[in-house]
Amino acid sequence: MGTKVAPTYATLVMGFLEEKLYRKVDTQYGTVFGEYIRTNWRRYLDDCFIFWSKTEEELIHFHQLLNDIHPSIQFTMDMQEEKLPFLDIMIIKKDNDIITDLFYKKTDSHQYLIFNSCHPSHTKRNIPYNLARRVCTIVLESSLRDKRLEELKSFLIKQQYPEKLIDAAIIKAKNIPITELRTSKEKPEQKDVIPFVVTHNPKNEKIFNVAKQFLPILHQSPSLRSLFKPQDFIHSRRQPLNLKKLLTRAKFSSNPDETFKVSKCLDPRCGTCKFILEGDTFKFKSGRIFRVNENMTCKSKNLIYCMTCPSCGEEYIGQTGTKLADRVRVHKQQIKDPTVRNTPCSAHFDNCGHGKFTIFPFYKVKSDNENLRRAKEHFFINIFKPKLNRL
Ligand SMILES: [Zn+2]
Ligand SMILES: [Zn+2]
Repeated sequence: MGTKVAPTYATLVMGFLEEKLYRKVDTQYGTVFGEYIRTNWRRYLDDCFIFWSKTEEELIHFHQLLNDIHPSIQFTMDMQEEKLPFLDIMIIKKDNDIITDLFYKKTDSHQYLIFNSCHPSHTKRNIPYNLARRVCTIVLESSLRDKRLEELKSFLIKQQYPEKLIDAAIIKAKNIPITELRTSKEKPEQKDVIPFVVTHNPKNEKIFNVAKQFLPILHQSPSLRSLFKPQDFIHSRRQPLNLKKLLTRAKFSSNPDETFKVSKCLDPRCGTCKFILEGDTFKFKSGRIFRVNENMTCKSKNLIYCMTCPSCGEEYIGQTGTKLADRVRVHKQQIKDPTVRNTPCSAHFDNCGHGKFTIFPFYKVKSDNENLRRAKEHFFINIFKPKLNRL
């Protein structure tokens, strides 16, 4: 269950296979039992459940039927006469009735979000209520339900939830009629909203209200007034970086010790080999040292480069989507011929540098997206503040 759409795919595939199953049951067991299967077969994603009224032999045969539908969809079966867990529910046969209890996996350590965690307070304050509500939905028998609610309280106290908050949540959940608890509610359709996105910080709680106070300024413009209706403006919190996100990376280099370098292409016809600097790092005039992130030559594409004036040492940062050598050819033309210049640095390399320069591609953009490359170029210009970009 990796991506967001995986459960949807699983449900679609299972639904499709179930149709096949029903037809098989009809032909092998007859339509009466086929109808029984259709109405009593329960499934959530890939977990299935059924009350079986025929013999154990027939159940094993049915299990075989299920596994014959598709070779790569194979079910394991657990059958019990007294009680059996399904999802987070323990289903128990009692006399002629069925009762339900909570079911926790043996590995469940009940580590609910700790109360002093850096989350919006309404998120944390709702947790006891939602958990209590779940207990009341699953466990109907009152003494058993109260026992489970007591257990829940002890788990939550361990996670530092205030006792008053837990008690209030339990009372609120117990007061909901069972018919309401056991009816699924349809989610109201989401209307268009304008989220005001803030990275969550408990010290910034009021920022949304402050922003809202400035709406009248936007509303001075009639067209903005119709767009920014106060009721559509909602507070949206982005989760701040947690330790996991700070300490781990989504991608790992296959060899973390690998170092990259810039080298001449050594093509005898190359006009850039003479100008390109070689090495694995580049020292900017400001003194900052930059380590290259990929092997590059005069023939590399999609990169950010630095051109340096040999006379004064000032720098120009540029980007190219085509081969560095092609970009160098354009620079050389513009330095030589004032009529084709479109960057002011060309005049500087002509006058101060006497037509000479050195060039070092220091950052390889890992996609050929031009916007991304330009954004990276801006980023580096902001950091290294090369004088020749600001002529
Ligand atoms: Zn070359
Ligand atoms: Zn210069």
